[in-house]
Amino acid sequence: MKNTGVYIHIPFCSSKCPYCDFYSLKYSDAEADKYTKALTKRIESYKNLHVSSVYFGGGTPGIMGTQRIVALISTIKNTLLLENDAEVTLELNPESADKLDFAKLKKAGVNRLSIGLQSADRQELKYLGRLHSASLAEQTVTRAQKEGFDNISLDIMLGTSHQTKQSLKSTIDFCAALNVQHISAYILKIEENTPYHTHREKFVFPNEDEQAELYEFAVTELEKAGFYQYEISNFCKDGYYSRHNMLYWNCDEYIGIGPSAHSFFHGKRFYTPRSLEDFYNDKTVSDGDGGGEEEYAMLRLRLKKGLNEADYFNRFGKDIPKEYYTRASQIKEYANVYKDGISLTTKGFLLSNSIIAYLLYG
Ligand code: SF4
Repeated sequence: MKNTGVYIHIPFCSSKCPYCDFYSLKYSDAEADKYTKALTKRIESYKNLHVSSVYFGGGTPGIMGTQRIVALISTIKNTLLLENDAEVTLELNPESADKLDFAKLKKAGVNRLSIGLQSADRQELKYLGRLHSASLAEQTVTRAQKEGFDNISLDIMLGTSHQTKQSLKSTIDFCAALNVQHISAYILKIEENTPYHTHREKFVFPNEDEQAELYEFAVTELEKAGFYQYEISNFCKDGYYSRHNMLYWNCDEYIGIGPSAHSFFHGKRFYTPRSLEDFYNDKTVSDGDGGGEEEYAMLRLRLKKGLNEADYFNRFGKDIPKEYYTRASQIKEYANVYKDGISLTTKGFLLSNSIIAYLLYG
């Protein structure tokens, strides 16, 4: 049976973080109710779709509160063919987690939580404009664990204003002590049209070399703490990789529901624009065909496992192009060549866009 994931975008947050480029608006109960109804209708339009994972991402999905999330899961179960062991992830932030009843969420079928910690350092959190403290994050994780959640991911950020190797190490130690199973470590990118970009001279950001050092340091420290890298920004304990996100990197199909959500379904890529109104009006924009050989190679090279001959053959009935191997062997610092595939090194991951473009196109 083919795996299909369902991504549900919740475009609401308690406030806007100054670096954030995601589509998110200020939360209100009235809009959350209207949005839940619109999501329900859209989920019902995929009646009998066979689903292996569900991911509530955002924004801050947890801000919707237990009742709305439980109702959406119940619609999914009643309408779609959700596998018995499907992974169901809910993203949440510590500052709005008091709204959540973890026992009820678990009972409804949520079995994975992804929590936005970003940093355990008070000063870093302040510069990131985050509203929580490390101790509130700790209470949230502990409360969820008490209710039986044993698959928890924490998001942390690399290259934030005033971050040092020492503060990063403290954040990693903090995560490890909480006994979570997964860590996503993203390098902060200063996106245009964000307050961070407009006021960038007010902050002290690590330069590119320092960012690279922090990334390499994080990879080493996370592995020492038992979190093994399986993708550029993702690390987990044995077997606890994100099954839903794996669909993206394996170029498998998924439905994205909500403004700014992208889909790859029946070989076509399409998305809803970054506008609640457009979502309410069922507007979607075509993004052409998907799943070709080059797209597959680009996505797979984000994984530590990289491009693998057997997987490539199963999918396309042919070998990985020879020129990929030739080019990879010319940039040994950035790419590993095996007899059954190609993968990127840590330095290759840091420059992944240009290294992948070079391997594919020269
Ligand atoms: S909580 Fe996340 S999605 Fe919401 S504004 Fe902050 S970074 Fe963006």
